[in-house]
Amino acid sequence: MKILIFLLNFPWTVIGLLTSILSVPWSVRFSKNPPAIIFYIRSFWWCRWIPRHKGIRAMATGHVVQMSKWADDLDLKHEIIHVEQFMRYPFISGFLLLIETIRHGPYPPRNKYEKEAYERAGNRFGYFVGE
Ligand SMILES: [Zn+2]
Repeated sequence: MKILIFLLNFPWTVIGLLTSILSVPWSVRFSKNPPAIIFYIRSFWWCRWIPRHKGIRAMATGHVVQMSKWADDLDLKHEIIHVEQFMRYPFISGFLLLIETIRHGPYPPRNKYEKEAYERAGNRFGYFVGE
């Protein structure tokens, strides 16, 4: 079952891998449960044009997590919860997250996926503004 979930999420994981290259990774580690590749990256320079994403600290796309130097352990927990969401709703999760963000913005409580991630991880709310 896990293999099927992983295959269904594969397009998102590929997007995660490709955008990780853009972000210039300098270190990598792996999470077993849920299965995820965690890249520690130099910069999210390529997504600064997206509204309200200027100071993004971390990101999850499929089974790939990207961590900037501004992200801490609780942010990692937050992104791992997004990976769990990808596993809960394989393939459609990326679209659900996108639609929810377009309709309700990237913040809780209106964005239910962000609400779950912030509540369960207990990480700092919002984006780092700077750099
Ligand atoms: Zn989030």
